[in-house]
Amino acid sequence: MRIYNSGFYEVARVRHSVPRFRFTKDTSLAEWQRNARQNLSQLLGLPLQAGANTLKILYAREHPGFTEHRFELETEPGYFAQCYLLVPKDKSEMHKLCLCFGGHGSNMHITAGLPDNDPDRSGGELNRRENIRILSETPELNIASYALKSGRAALIVELRAFGEAGDDTPSCTENAKTALLMGRTLIGERVHDAICALDAVLSGFDIDPEGIIATGFSGGGSLAFYLSLLDERIALCAPSCSFCSFEKSIVEISHCLCNHIPGIRRDFEMGDLAGLIYPRRLIVAAGETDPIFPYDGVLDSVRLAREVYFCDTPDSLILLSLKDGHRYYGELIWQTINNINI
Ligand SMILES: [Zn+2]
Repeated sequence: MRIYNSGFYEVARVRHSVPRFRFTKDTSLAEWQRNARQNLSQLLGLPLQAGANTLKILYAREHPGFTEHRFELETEPGYFAQCYLLVPKDKSEMHKLCLCFGGHGSNMHITAGLPDNDPDRSGGELNRRENIRILSETPELNIASYALKSGRAALIVELRAFGEAGDDTPSCTENAKTALLMGRTLIGERVHDAICALDAVLSGFDIDPEGIIATGFSGGGSLAFYLSLLDERIALCAPSCSFCSFEKSIVEISHCLCNHIPGIRRDFEMGDLAGLIYPRRLIVAAGETDPIFPYDGVLDSVRLAREVYFCDTPDSLILLSLKDGHRYYGELIWQTINNINI
């Protein structure tokens, strides 16, 4: 076969290549996980130099049913990540925790369900009106509400390049391109911020270090997934509309650079990576008509994950799907989580 179009040639190379880090029974699972995790960390451009990471509370506000703690962290020298911790008002002294990550271009106020931006900060009143509109049209993007309803505290970290960490419009492509020039990746930087925020919350609040959940939608689902691959404190990972083969999503469909990690498909398919979560739990939510993370790519990845995942308990890897599009399947995910003793 002769190919003259170089783009077709690149795609054909992906289709015909077996990732270097595919698990085989020639090695123990523990050894594979150690090597694969170390390799993934390098591909993501990690570790980054840590900042002071001292939790600085900006304010606390009371709401019906929960307390909002707004704080910031110096996660790298000179970079301050913006965060919320929402804690349910109940009798529980030590709360279980869920990290909640919003979708691409969304901001942390939407994920927290808090339209009332501090007008002194970026965006002000304009962002506030936009947040109210988005939350009324797509209430499922208030991911924290599901965690709070299940009695968990919700930790929300602003994703780099979005919301208060970005410009008025998502600035991910330029941000990611510059990061790549320095051997870093935007997704690696977001994972770093999430790990720092988790460190700070576990030491600064009365939070149970066991049974921690990470969930998110689309780009936020990818962040929940990559965080869970590297940070074994996450006991259950529940990405919505992001777990899909690279071959059928970011290779075949135009996606922004948020999703691109140099060398990732040379070394892993998405289903291979799921082996780094085992024996912890993975709940994959997918839309059967999702146009950007196609369902056949989801099924391919789940099939591959089941091969490397050694499902020895029925609820360790669960696929949830609906005949619907690209969205956060909150009801489905949280019905399932609430039926699992975690
Ligand atoms: Zn992006």
